[in-house]
Amino acid sequence: MKNIIKADPAGFCMGVRRAVNMVEEELTGDKTIYTLGPIIHNQQVLDRLQARGVKMAQSPDDVEGDCTLVIRAHGVEPETEQILREKGINLADGTCPKVKQSHRIIEEYSEKGFFIVILGDKNHGEVKGLAGRANRHIVVSTPEEAEKLTLPRETLLICQTTVKLDEFDCIKEILLAKNPDLAVKNMICPATRKRQTAVKELAAKVQAMVVVGGKGSANTKRLYQTALEQGIAAFHVETAGEITEEMKRYDTIGVTAGASTPDDIIEEVMDALRG
Ligand code: SF4
Repeated sequence: MKNIIKADPAGFCMGVRRAVNMVEEELTGDKTIYTLGPIIHNQQVLDRLQARGVKMAQSPDDVEGDCTLVIRAHGVEPETEQILREKGINLADGTCPKVKQSHRIIEEYSEKGFFIVILGDKNHGEVKGLAGRANRHIVVSTPEEAEKLTLPRETLLICQTTVKLDEFDCIKEILLAKNPDLAVKNMICPATRKRQTAVKELAAKVQAMVVVGGKGSANTKRLYQTALEQGIAAFHVETAGEITEEMKRYDTIGVTAGASTPDDIIEEVMDALRG
């Protein structure tokens, strides 16, 4: 008898689930639904939503008419929100509550006159949304960039939700050496770390691990890497259609999934492994 065990947690994080549910709810109305960029990094979900009429805009210029735009989990710049509101577009705010919290902190510290240092990828949508809430800011992504900074006494260090703790600690130490009064807000989201820990724990109990998620999804690739590092056979698939006899030959198989993989795709993969 085959034993297929799902890691806990696996799949959708709270923020992604909330944003996707928001799109689903809006689809019950009669307005055209837009997202600004992909709502989620999962092609199967995007294809299904597109088939149900959801349109993906690349910029506010692409959004027209009597419609609702659902903001993605990692949020947008305030200027983008304003442009859309001025165009009379109805907005449904799918920004993850954890990202919203970072917005509020940056606004609060900016009002008090603080300079904001954001650790993250300056090209990422979440970081653009954070930067847009600061009066004065700089985005850094490496220790070398942090070393070059000259900081006012009233400075806040904050980060993108997906940075690694050791990266954050490293930048924090560099900046504290320059400014012992530095205010520090660690906004790292535990969702990724919890999925990594669950894979390590499950790997000790199974012969092989199947990781489900987009081939372009960074957090799925990291889960796959972690599974491999545990010294067991590991496979990365996007859908049940990729399950092979080679994967099915183990008696005990663990299944995990990236934060943008929906429950039904995980279930389909588990069924295919049992079959
Ligand atoms: S990873 Fe964390 S911060 Fe990002 S959307 Fe998911 S719950 Fe929100």
